[in-house]
Amino acid sequence: MLVVMKHGASREDIDRVADTIREMGYQAEPIPGRQRTAVGLVGNDGRVEDGRLLTLPGVLRVIHVSQPYKQVSREWKPDDTIFELANGVRVGGRDVVLIAGPCSVESEEQILRTARRVRAAGATILRGGAFKPRTSPYSFQGLGREGLELLALARQETGLAVVTEALDAEGVELVAEYGDIIQIGARNMQNYALLREAGRAGKPVLLKRGMSATIKELLLAAEYILLEGESRVILCERGVRSFDHHARNLLDLTAIPSVKELSHLPIIADPAHGTGRRDKVPPMARAAVAAGADGIMVEVHPDPASALSDGAQSLTPDQYDDLVVEVTAIARALGRSIARPAESAVAEG
Ligand code: PEP
Ligand code: MN
Repeated sequence: MLVVMKHGASREDIDRVADTIREMGYQAEPIPGRQRTAVGLVGNDGRVEDGRLLTLPGVLRVIHVSQPYKQVSREWKPDDTIFELANGVRVGGRDVVLIAGPCSVESEEQILRTARRVRAAGATILRGGAFKPRTSPYSFQGLGREGLELLALARQETGLAVVTEALDAEGVELVAEYGDIIQIGARNMQNYALLREAGRAGKPVLLKRGMSATIKELLLAAEYILLEGESRVILCERGVRSFDHHARNLLDLTAIPSVKELSHLPIIADPAHGTGRRDKVPPMARAAVAAGADGIMVEVHPDPASALSDGAQSLTPDQYDDLVVEVTAIARALGRSIARPAESAVAEG
């Protein structure tokens, strides 16, 4: 159960609620938020009588949350979370956002060429790793700060928002300085220090599902971020490990309607990492939009054969053009549209 306090509730009001919860025989966990404070009641096995709490000063309402994740759940917030990025793109709600770009930022020419092409196709968010979580320590690890600077240059030139990964808690500040969205990769979904730091950075967070994480674990990971006060979280289904190696991962399309039922947070799909194979990306992107995804993130490279990472799953710019036409038609058939940037944020060129 969550006891939600009114906006101007005093410290004494909050303490009184916590004391009352303890007197009732449960544990009280104050949950400070940017908008409002709530006091969580834990230790109950079933529904708790709320009459006594509802009459206390400063109490707005009581929410009975049956899930282990609280603020992430639909019980806590029935309406979809919708937020706007710096370039005016709305994430969540009716619009489907298109995120595209190379796996890694490799050079100025590579990122600018890609950014121009994906923007022309209809993408509004540019992806690109500057700090790369590579399975092998001998693989290309990313350009680091230089990569972030190149992403900022691409944003300046195209008006695209930028999403890029922070690999560790220490790196969050730097990534937040350059990026519009902080990406937390699959390998880091349960890096709780990183989740907390990202939740404090003041930027939206794109949280990818761990490769063997359950939906519940994904939502609990998101809870760490919301608990720090950042409610602009985008969840991402990027495929889970499977026994079958016909594809790199098994893109779990069921995760999309499941998350939508359990949580108010937007969920997007990444069919690039979800399949690992270029030819499988368009059909799974189409399927993800059909399943209700709030966005599609794919990898696009001007010359996939020479990519320093994930070339096999990267689309060419021409292939991306075709994919956007297809997913736009599917979105429309479902009464949705593709997210557009605010006119003022669209650079000429
Ligand atoms: C990526 O987006 O490039 C990436 C490394 O993804 P994941 O964390 O899903 O493997
Ligand atoms: Mn990649």
